[in-house]
Formats: sequence, structure tokens, C-alpha cells
Amino acid sequence: MSERREAPDPPPSRRFWGGLPIGRIFGVPIVVQPLWFLVVVLITAGLGSTIRDNVHGLSSNAAYAVALAFALLLYASVLLHELAHVFVARSLGMQVRRVVLQFLGGASEIVEENPGEPARDFMVAMAGPLCSVFLAGVGAAIAPAFEPTTVPRLFAEGFAWVNGLVAAFNLLPGFPLDGGRVLLSAVWQLTHDKTRAQFVSGWVGRVLAVALAVSALYVQNIPTGDGHRGDQVRGFYLLLLAYFIWANASWAIGRSKLSVVLPRLDIKAMTRKALSVAADLPVAEAVRRAHAAAARALVVVDSYGRPVAVVSEAAVMATPVQRQPWISVADLARPVGADLLLRSDMNGDALLAAVQQHPATEYLVVEPNGALFGVLSRADVVAALQAAGLR
Ligand SMILES: [Zn+2]
Repeated sequence: MSERREAPDPPPSRRFWGGLPIGRIFGVPIVVQPLWFLVVVLITAGLGSTIRDNVHGLSSNAAYAVALAFALLLYASVLLHELAHVFVARSLGMQVRRVVLQFLGGASEIVEENPGEPARDFMVAMAGPLCSVFLAGVGAAIAPAFEPTTVPRLFAEGFAWVNGLVAAFNLLPGFPLDGGRVLLSAVWQLTHDKTRAQFVSGWVGRVLAVALAVSALYVQNIPTGDGHRGDQVRGFYLLLLAYFIWANASWAIGRSKLSVVLPRLDIKAMTRKALSVAADLPVAEAVRRAHAAAARALVVVDSYGRPVAVVSEAAVMATPVQRQPWISVADLARPVGADLLLRSDMNGDALLAAVQQHPATEYLVVEPNGALFGVLSRADVVAALQAAGLR
């Protein structure tokens, strides 16, 4: 069994807005983002007239109904592509959080394995494009069975085109596209260095994003002759796609840099020495003792010596010196739950995950035997990352 947990820092693709759950397949929730509906309307509006012109004897209303059905078929193709990823991931024993249909396409949120295995990632990444290639083949195979310029023929041909396009686009070799994940697992397999593989696939992803943005500007600026605004919309869509790929590729590059720095993060070196005090001790006396002991933090302990609350440096600074003899540390202390307790033997990766999952200004660091080691300030972790050229 390999250790599995949430990635400490989710990629930008997962920070998009929430969505409407529409059901579960293989036990995995399928979520549709609100903007998706707008895109379905845009596709329907854009395709309606084209379908009316290409199918004999179709009324305008019927043409738009067919266009709507086509837009839904397009997303059904995207969903099948995602379900192929999910199916392979699940059969390999990996966890899938959810599948999201967004206006830019689909995304399967597969829980990243730590450290993971390149062969498994390769199989999961290839499943989607292979499914799309298969669907394109099915569309191309059945199309000749229908009369030309009929709705079924248009559907079969459209199905073949759309799935072929989905396969080809997703096989582009930059992160976060499937092809980029294939590249990542290949470089990882060859070099035995996941960090380098993330860096390489991230940079190829950035190059792709730039190429896509340039093509978007080109698409927006070539005259269409008939004065259609469709190319403006398509150009804007491509620009969004370019941004999406850039953001996720940059995340992968950031992650690779982080994995170089993380093992060097030393929790003990960053932890401030803390003085244990009773809850009823006046602040002035606590500060005096802390100075004498060269401690930079105050921790309130119960009668058994267990740490129960922490007094932040900011809270002491905010209290006027003349008032400090008259208030107890309990008045300034903030209770600490189990989620703000860090172990002094945590490594960099686990430390960052804990700090990001439970945002707070201060954490208590305890020895493996439960004894208080000190107080870790979030600002000190950020400063250590900044000193290493990150964040
Ligand atoms: Zn895919």
C-alpha cells in the first residue's frame, strides 16, 4: 500500500468555482459548473444556422433543437473521455474526488499518490485519449450508413470530428493536458526524477499556452468575409484555454521547485523557543520570564503541564505596557486544538500540507512523546520559503 493524501497545494484547475452535482458514475460525483450552461447556449446559437443550411427541409426551430442536441453530444463525448480516466484510475485502486464538466471541457480530480508510480499515471493519462479515438472511429464507421445531408449523418460525422479533436488536443504534450501527463510519466520513468519530469512537462505546457494564445489572436484577426462574429468568440475561448493551461503548467513548475526546497525545511530550526506558563500569570510577569529564558513565545499549560493555548507575539505587542501587569495570559491566549499541533519530526512535505490545511498564525510543535518543543509561526515558514526563492 502506498501512502495517499491530499496534495498540499491544489492546482488552479481545482480552484475554479463550484458546481451543480448531476449524479454519480462508478460512485464518483459528476459536477457541472454554471458557466457550462452558457457555453451550451452559445454552441447551440452558433451551430443552429449552419445545421439549417446543411440539412434539407429542416425548419429553423428544428435546426436549433438539433444544434442543442449536438452541443449535449459534444459534452457527452467529453464526459466519456473523463470516465475512461476515472475507470482506469479506480481499477488501479486510486481515489477519484469528482468529475467536473466546465466550459473549457472536463476534468477528473484524481487524488495524487505520494510518491506514486510513473506506469500507473501513464495508464490513467492514456485512457482518456484512447477512449476519444475509439469514439471517433465509431462515428466515422457508422456515418456512411446514413444518407448524406440528413440529421443522423450530420450527428455521426460530428461525433467523429469532435472526438478526434478531443483526442488530438488532449494528446498535446504539455501539462496539464493528458499528453503532458504522458510526457511527465515518461521523463519520470527514464530519469527516476519526478521533480524534473514535472518541471519539463510544465515548461512544455507553458510553451503550448503561448502558442495557443498566439493562434487565438490570429483567429480573432483574420477576416471571415461574411462578417460573422463567431471567430471573436472562438478566439476568446482559445485565449481562456491558453490562460488555463498556463496557470496549471506554472503550478506544476512551482510544485517541482517546491519539492526541491521542501526536504530542506527544518521544522526544529524554524520553531521558536516557548515558555510554558499558567493561565493566571500576569502578562507582564510572563513577558519578563520569557525574556530571561530567551523564549520568543508563550504557551499556556494546564495543571498537568499539557499545552492548551498559545499567546501570539502580536497580541502581547498590542497590549499597552502599563496594562500588562493587570491582565493574565489567559486573556490574550488563543486555545489550540489538535489540528494546530505539529510534531517536531515532521518532514517538509508533511509540514507544508499541515500548515496549508489548517491556516493559523501560530502552531504548537510537540516532541513525539507529547512534550512541548516550541511555537511555529506561519510567517517563519513563509519567510523560509521566500528565502529559498519561492512564494
Ligand atoms: Zn483527458
